[in-house]
Amino acid sequence: MNSSASWLAELRRLLFVVLAAALLGWMFGRPLLFVALGLFLLCSWWLGQMWRIWRWLGHPEEDPPESHGIWGNIYDRIYHLQRENREARRQLQSSVDYLQDSFASMREGVVMIDEGGSIQWSNAASERLLGLKYPADRGQTLLNLVRLPEFHSYFIEEDFSEPLQMAVAGEQERFFQIEITPFGDGDRLVFVRDVTALVKLEHMRRDFVGNVSHELRTPLTVIIGYIDTILATGSRLEKPLVKPLKQMQQQAQRMETLLKDLLWLSRIESVKTEQKTDQIDVASMIEELRDDLKNTYPERAVVVQIETRQKVLGDYRELRSALSNLALNALKYSTDEVEVTLRWAEVEGEYLLSVTDQGIGIDSIHLPRLTERFYRVDDSRSTNTGGTGLGLAIVKHVAAAHDAELRIDSRMGRGSTFTIAFPSPSL
Ligand code: ADP
Repeated sequence: MNSSASWLAELRRLLFVVLAAALLGWMFGRPLLFVALGLFLLCSWWLGQMWRIWRWLGHPEEDPPESHGIWGNIYDRIYHLQRENREARRQLQSSVDYLQDSFASMREGVVMIDEGGSIQWSNAASERLLGLKYPADRGQTLLNLVRLPEFHSYFIEEDFSEPLQMAVAGEQERFFQIEITPFGDGDRLVFVRDVTALVKLEHMRRDFVGNVSHELRTPLTVIIGYIDTILATGSRLEKPLVKPLKQMQQQAQRMETLLKDLLWLSRIESVKTEQKTDQIDVASMIEELRDDLKNTYPERAVVVQIETRQKVLGDYRELRSALSNLALNALKYSTDEVEVTLRWAEVEGEYLLSVTDQGIGIDSIHLPRLTERFYRVDDSRSTNTGGTGLGLAIVKHVAAAHDAELRIDSRMGRGSTFTIAFPSPSL
């Protein structure tokens, strides 16, 4: 029977009970009492049906009780809803199992934590990497079990835009990369990768570049020395030899600058993680550089704008080299007629060290790669200007070593602004 027919049948049953009770009551002279009695019996029967539903809902695995009419329909409807619900749950559980299985088999440590920082689930790799045991540690606070200060600060600061890379002391030093992804209602997924091999490779590359540059400098100094001596003989030198020797001298000097930059870059990279403790007076550094530039490039206008005398924690040599790289680029890539501005200012809670020129500018397609080693916008540009292609890589590393950020704003034909933005407060 479909549901509207059974509702009608139930209505008919109600009417029948009322009429039959009224008729019987009329025969006995008490129609109202009999109608009330009839309704009472019908309600008791309905209550009995509801009690059966309630009892069955307590044991949903059992088949629904046999019933007819509207009550049978209600049983059927609930039974179907339960079946659908069970099927949806089964599918959801199998998706969860599938995901957990794939996380469980990952070589990276995976830990799921809830809003309060308690462990909900973790895989086998997280036992190897972080010493977590699942399910024994379920419900424990992650920060109580993982006692790594850098991880604590990273976790508490809640800035997960960049992964955390840190050294972990032990029998052998290891390096972990940790990524935290918020999901759901304040829950977080923590990924831990052992990047020791990668970091070691990176150290080897850095050491190799550093060592090669160092080893090449001595023979180069000898070569430059001889070329200088030969060229110093002046008029006694055979004429056809002068031009090639001058070119050799120029190229050897370029090579020396390149080696110097490479060595400097590998030094900055190797001391990057060291805490900076010196207070650097950036404003005075800018003024000193302006005076130096005035001596070397008297024809150029270098404007200084000091809007704050705030000092920053840092390394004087590194910051000075970054600033002079930016200033020399600004002079190199603009004409003598326009000025170059060096500025130190506080803007919206950040301290900005910026160098602005009104030179040739850089097309925006180059900006993402501009700070890569040896990246050149235009090879002929840099060869003309004698650049090594390492200047901006040095600036970027210096900025990173000071927890600062290098920002580049440039427009073709209009000029560029390179800014090292220090977070506030740096002291
Ligand atoms: P380089 O030694 O070649 O100048 P850098 O790393 O300092 O190397 O700069 C990379 C490239 O970025 C340069 O080759 C140049 O094309 C471009 N560049 C850097 N600074 C400026 C600037 N102020 N204006 C225009 N182009 C610039």
